[in-house]
Amino acid sequence: MISCPHCEKPGISPLRKAIMSPGLIASCKSCNGSSGLRYTSWLTAMLPGSVLMIAAMFVNTDSAEWSLNIIGLILMIIIPLMFAPLYKED
Ligand SMILES: [Zn+2]
Repeated sequence: MISCPHCEKPGISPLRKAIMSPGLIASCKSCNGSSGLRYTSWLTAMLPGSVLMIAAMFVNTDSAEWSLNIIGLILMIIIPLMFAPLYKED
């Protein structure tokens, strides 16, 4: 579980955070507080995966294209999940 910025308890499910983007609010199971992502930190977290997916358009072999797309997609889920901080939304 992900720690809530309001009560510091692990009240937000990782799945909920994985599909989070700016403007989407997650609510805490412990305190019912709302939290969300900031656009800049979300964008920064999405960058490495996006770069790989763009690079995939310029490779010549199908297998390299697929590998880059899959790794890019995984990074776009994992990095925001692990590193994009949650902020209080009220
Ligand atoms: Zn909370």
